[in-house]
Amino acid sequence: MVEEKDLLGALKEYFGYDTFRPLQRQIIDSVFAGNDNMVIMPTGGGKSICYQLPATLLPGVTLVISPLIALMKDQVDGLTANGISAAFLNSSQAEDVQQEIFSRISKNEIKLLYVAPESLQYIDAVFSSGKISLIAIDEAHCISSWGHDFRPAYTQLGYLKSRHPETPIIALTATADKATRKDICDQLNIPAAKQFIASFDRKNLSLEVRPGNKKLDQIIAFLKKRPDQSGIIYCLSRKNTEELAVKLKSKGFDAEAYHAGLSHSDRIKIQEDFIQDKNQIICATVAFGMGIDKSNVRWVIHYNLPKNLEGYYQEIGRAGRDGLPSSTLLFHSYADVVQLRKFAVNSGNSEVQMAKLDRMKQYADALSCRRKILLSYFGELISEDCGNCDVCKNPPEFFDGTILTQKALSTIFRLKGQESISLVIDVLRGAHNAQVLEKGYQQLKTFGIATDVSWRDWQQYLIQLINLGYVEIAFHDQNKLRLTPLAKKVLFEKEKVRLAHVIQREAAKEPVVAEKNSENTLFEKLRQLRLKLAREEDIPPYLIFNDAT
Ligand code: ADP
Ligand code: MG
Repeated sequence: MVEEKDLLGALKEYFGYDTFRPLQRQIIDSVFAGNDNMVIMPTGGGKSICYQLPATLLPGVTLVISPLIALMKDQVDGLTANGISAAFLNSSQAEDVQQEIFSRISKNEIKLLYVAPESLQYIDAVFSSGKISLIAIDEAHCISSWGHDFRPAYTQLGYLKSRHPETPIIALTATADKATRKDICDQLNIPAAKQFIASFDRKNLSLEVRPGNKKLDQIIAFLKKRPDQSGIIYCLSRKNTEELAVKLKSKGFDAEAYHAGLSHSDRIKIQEDFIQDKNQIICATVAFGMGIDKSNVRWVIHYNLPKNLEGYYQEIGRAGRDGLPSSTLLFHSYADVVQLRKFAVNSGNSEVQMAKLDRMKQYADALSCRRKILLSYFGELISEDCGNCDVCKNPPEFFDGTILTQKALSTIFRLKGQESISLVIDVLRGAHNAQVLEKGYQQLKTFGIATDVSWRDWQQYLIQLINLGYVEIAFHDQNKLRLTPLAKKVLFEKEKVRLAHVIQREAAKEPVVAEKNSENTLFEKLRQLRLKLAREEDIPPYLIFNDAT
């Protein structure tokens, strides 16, 4: 065991800090205990120190797998400047440079060695050159196709544990829901890894969702209230980023487009200018931002609905890293939902992608504190409403929904968490349909206890219960509804539940679409697709698309 004074000494000597941030100390202790570890901490939370500090005190080399070759040099330079000997290894280096690194490893002259997942062919040579004390896998969500930044090369990393079972692994990421977390540990062969989940609550970020009509006008009004502030506008397509940048420029704003289709040098320049406050607004695809450490981004706008909450949270997390109040604004429109559903259907993992998109949509549709929804998605439960989201600031009308909630929760309980939302509602409403009868659910005590609530309203109330954290959807298990530990407070401890009256907002506001309108055909196609999917996959239609048709 390493002594407290050595840890604090190294923290001060190499990083210049006097105290640890939340969880850093526990994580570092666990590294020294030889455990495998899984660290979930928001962007800017301080993950690097969790392996860099142990690296300075451990006998051999700490191997760091990091996805961004472009950033490795910066990281190594930063460490070297702090007095920590570090190097990186990749296939663009000349052979003599690589040999030099192997020789330094064998002389125990390197503490941290950065390697891209694409360069795993060097791993055996590294292991035979010297002692490897620890393997750190940064941005570990890249291993999971359920996450939002999948990198095929990461999937080979399971090799590390099977080949070198005695070397502890620490996997780190800012974004992972329960399912992705399990997937990461499974794929890395570290099923018994200790899990460390830091708070994701970024109180300084205000949250707001608005309907996505007249977006340009809304953005211009937003920007006029924030002269000279830096911000990012995330768009779904490259074309969107360019068109929007042109429109904003024509209105006199300092905006640039950024996407993966630009040349490498253009991208670097735009990024550098943004970091150095030489340009103010970036209209970007999600290609922009990973690893960019700019502390004074004051706002983030999502021009389109993101495809899942992990991506969304990571992207808004780029605002306000200095801790000062910052604004986030999301535009929510049906057209985006249609587009994203198509992407999801065509992805290799459509069921999971669909369910995740659905959670994104639920967030955007929320009638209760948005921050609670976001945090509960990451497994974090807060008891108070945040007061810093649009719903908290302008709340809908609530009623005492305790009895309604008890009915729903006890039904889910009696169904043993084995059924999806549609069957839960069927049981609540006492529907004598084939599925219900086949399974004998008409015998259940709660069968038909809530016939007075319509099917649609039940959908909305159940979404609220999911959003409030009493119920969760098992994405990877046919979207079954299950109770969370919070549910027992309502079932057994008389906790009161406030529910919002269902307002059919979208349905009421959706304009009547003319026959020829292309969007109308799209809706029809989507309706067909929804029905087809519902038949094939036994997904409740609501999970496919929650429209008014
Ligand atoms: P992450 O990888 O989780 O996004 P970093 O490791 O890059 O975050 O850390 C974010 C910032 O927080 C860095 O500027 C880092 O130096 C700083 N930091 C990390 N740990 C501490 C600490 N214990 N005290 C003060 N600042 C810290
Ligand atoms: Mg990091």
